[in-house]
Amino acid sequence: MKAFSHLSRKAFPIKLYNSLSGKKEIFEPINKDVVKMYTCGPTVYNFAHIGNLRTYIFEDVLRRNIKANGYDVFQVMNITDIDDKIIKESQSSKKEIKEITSFFEEKFFEDLKKLNIEIPEKAPRATEHISEMVALIQKLIDKGYAYKSDDGSVYFSISKFENYGKLSHPDLSGIKKFQRVSADEYEKDEVKDFVLWKAKKEDEPFWESPWGPGRPGWHIECSAMSMKYLGESFDIHTGGVDNIFPHHENEIAQSEAATEKPFAKYWLHGEHLLVNGQKMAKSAGNFYTLSDIEEKGFDPLSFRYLCLQTHYQSKMNFTWEALSAAQTALEGLRKAYMSFKKDIESGKKKKRLFSRKLSDFKKEILKALNDNLNTSQVLAMLWTLLKEKSLIPAEKASLIEFADEILGLNLKKGIVIMEIIPDELIELAKERDQLRKQGQFKEADQIRLRIEEKGYELRDNENGYKIIKK
Ligand SMILES: [Zn+2]
Repeated sequence: MKAFSHLSRKAFPIKLYNSLSGKKEIFEPINKDVVKMYTCGPTVYNFAHIGNLRTYIFEDVLRRNIKANGYDVFQVMNITDIDDKIIKESQSSKKEIKEITSFFEEKFFEDLKKLNIEIPEKAPRATEHISEMVALIQKLIDKGYAYKSDDGSVYFSISKFENYGKLSHPDLSGIKKFQRVSADEYEKDEVKDFVLWKAKKEDEPFWESPWGPGRPGWHIECSAMSMKYLGESFDIHTGGVDNIFPHHENEIAQSEAATEKPFAKYWLHGEHLLVNGQKMAKSAGNFYTLSDIEEKGFDPLSFRYLCLQTHYQSKMNFTWEALSAAQTALEGLRKAYMSFKKDIESGKKKKRLFSRKLSDFKKEILKALNDNLNTSQVLAMLWTLLKEKSLIPAEKASLIEFADEILGLNLKKGIVIMEIIPDELIELAKERDQLRKQGQFKEADQIRLRIEEKGYELRDNENGYKIIKK
């Protein structure tokens, strides 16, 4: 798939909606081979709810799609294992912080696995990176962007940072110097100097620092850990829309003030999930987790299917009826795949080799995904293609496999995979054919050799050529 896609990168580049510019842009990574991506991870004091999980599914599709285009991905996702909410939970449940965070971190990764979400290359914990955060805060103080308050906390001075607000565009007209907010989460009309280091309070965990004992604020954690593992400038930063302000705005301010370099090049945000048209809330009794879905007998991947039916930038309405329909559709695709495989095994597979038409269909799938992750279009395309008369069952199975590399619905569940001609070779053979037509026989022969090195043979015939496994 990698090489196939490599050839198509130029024909239909990846386009992504960048929240920073407010536009769909052609994706051009800083380094042409490895895409570096940062994802705001969970605060591990509770089970992830289905709204959080929707965001992780969108980020996984993004990651898989970038890989399908021939890039390697290096993704970092933080684990917030110290913050206001965790401390509150520890105090009310009378449990040690570590006991709470270890338990929920494990549950979180179990959820990702059930949803077929690929695990990021690095998942650093905040409490294991305090020294990096202290160093970054010190740098901001040294450069005049941060100051210590009387109680020993440290704040970022937003009036010192010229570009403050470039992501979320808050109203800055009423800003007064040294007006501060010490909470990690606050509203846009409360835009103020935000906390980098929180002075120790009674009965709270703390670390030593040049400004006295305390603990880091939430925002500095993501800047310190992303830059440690991805460098001062990297490609993509993702999260939910509720992170845009203040969290991501503050991340940009801290990082760019410290380095004087652009922080993340592309900012992607997943929209909210509603339940029966309402915002999810524990008090409303509509706060669901993946366990609730499993308890009702649903395959967790039916939730993934449901999410893929709505574009990640649109609000999604969750209902049990919709989930039920998604489960039926998921099973339908799996059954279709099984029946195509049966056809192949019963001996029809040798009739003809994969057509160029198949390759064109695959390109259409990748094209839709490259257009800012149009997953719903791909699902619709799959259903149409299954009925396509010009394709044989082996080709239809191949299409399902191809799309599923990115959709991640485990459509091959329980099925033995047969040997198929890799796309890379189909593309190489096409290239060779083109060269021959142009009379470049020497170059054409070199490609033939490359195909042979991979264990396949090219046989020319009156209709063109055939690729055969040796
Ligand atoms: Zn973050």
